[in-house]
Amino acid sequence: MIDFTNTEVAFGMKTNADLQQSRLLFATLSSPGVVGALKNVILAALAMRLPIKSIVKATVFRQFCGGETIEECQHQIDRLAEGQVGAILDYSVEGKAEESDFDRTLRTTIRTMEFAVANADVPFSVFKPTGLGSIDIYEKVSLEQSLSEKEAAAWERTKTRYHEIFAKANELGVPVMVDAEESWIQPAVDELVIHYMKQYNSQRALIYNTAQLYRHDRFQQLKDALALAQKEEFIYGVKIVRGAYMEKERERAARKGYADPIQPNKSATDRDYNASVDLILSNLDHMAVVFGTHNENSVKLAAEKMASLNLLPGDPRVFVAQLFGMSDHISFNAAAHGMNVAKYLPFGPLKDVLPYLFRRAEENTSVEGQTGRELSLIQEEVKRRKRG
Ligand SMILES: Cc1cc2nc3c(=O)[nH]c(=O)nc-3n(C[C@H](O)[C@H](O)[C@H](O)COP(=O)(O)OP(=O)(O)OC[C@H]3O[C@@H](n4cnc5c(N)ncnc54)[C@H](O)[C@@H]3O)c2cc1C
Repeated sequence: MIDFTNTEVAFGMKTNADLQQSRLLFATLSSPGVVGALKNVILAALAMRLPIKSIVKATVFRQFCGGETIEECQHQIDRLAEGQVGAILDYSVEGKAEESDFDRTLRTTIRTMEFAVANADVPFSVFKPTGLGSIDIYEKVSLEQSLSEKEAAAWERTKTRYHEIFAKANELGVPVMVDAEESWIQPAVDELVIHYMKQYNSQRALIYNTAQLYRHDRFQQLKDALALAQKEEFIYGVKIVRGAYMEKERERAARKGYADPIQPNKSATDRDYNASVDLILSNLDHMAVVFGTHNENSVKLAAEKMASLNLLPGDPRVFVAQLFGMSDHISFNAAAHGMNVAKYLPFGPLKDVLPYLFRRAEENTSVEGQTGRELSLIQEEVKRRKRG
């Protein structure tokens, strides 16, 4: 089975200098106080137009992002490909809400598809729902509230953007994943995505939705989606993740006085994640999957389940994915085992991807054990190289 402790494979793409730099970075990130202070310093320095960009670019940006443009990502795409790991170009500009921003995300996502079609090392494209439309309108549509004339026009434009992306994906044959964000906008996203899956996923999975198993209703939703796919003869493509907005979800539910949509504890999330692995791998005639996770046990479980079903590790209907700059021991060792692996490779103008970078930095202080694990694996590899 997969050996996640093989640091030689895990860090094959890193030079000694890269390793030292990552070691320093993760050691710095392990202190929440330092991360908080650095965040303030970077924001203040950028506001004062101090020449700090090159420092950020050479450190935290370099660890977690591919470049400022698609073309700049080529170098990292090539390095990942040396370890048989694909790249998913993720336009990681966040927190923009003008129509012109939504149009820019649309154009950029289409450019990532055009890039992918000529590049075998880029197996998917991806976008976030709030990159293409207003969160308030998604929420209203999800609640089936009536829209003003202006909102209805904006919603039509959002739907057209989805259609443009999916039609382009179909024309180019590049699969596209739709990320999941807050639960209160997901009904509108699910409806749109399933609508287009029925149209484009009849022969193969071109469009992938995302299921967050930290929600206690998502395993049932996955079973319902499978039943629909069986009945209406299409492939339900799905990325399964645990979910990234737990604190925000719980806080909002408490503030607004509705039932918490999140599982009562981590083991309930793990139980449903594992059950989803089982359900999907047992139904690949109507499902295709990307396991988006940094959890070794989840990847191990998927590999074991595939073996028990006599599926090849490289079955084209199954991918595992991690984020660039994290969990290389999972990505490269799973790829060495023969699984299809890809990493989200975020890109975008440095000042616009800062929210993404700060989240990664904060996550690497708050996710229990994550930084410690990255750091100890890097130290292990440094020692191994010294031994010769
Ligand atoms: C390629 C990729 C794509 C992703 N896409 C998305 C996306 O579209 N949408 C999205 O929301 N996230 C996405 N994520 C992030 C993902 O949801 C997780 O936040 C992250 O990967 C950590 O979960 P894990 O499975 O890696 O690991 P683990 O460390 O095993 O799990 C941590 C996760 O468990 C859950 N959890 C922790 N404590 C509790 C608790 N007390 N009760 C209930 N649940 C708990 C939370 O979801 C937490 O993030 C993506 C991750 C990857 C690698």
